[in-house]
Amino acid sequence: MEKVIHCRDVGYDCDGVIRAKTEEEALQQAAEHARSAHGLEEVTPEVVEKIKSVMREEPQEGE
Ligand SMILES: [Zn+2]
Repeated sequence: MEKVIHCRDVGYDCDGVIRAKTEEEALQQAAEHARSAHGLEEVTPEVVEKIKSVMREEPQEGE
């Protein structure tokens, strides 16, 4: 399984999907994406909580 975050679920009008092996990595990538793609200046604990709440687990290809 891998961690998957759909950017749209966080509240952005965006088709971006973040996939990572660990929750930590997924959060990091999501924060980076929010900064670079959506101009989010600060990733607050609230944002992290929101991202965590929409994070899903999906099977990897071949798994
Ligand atoms: Zn996005």
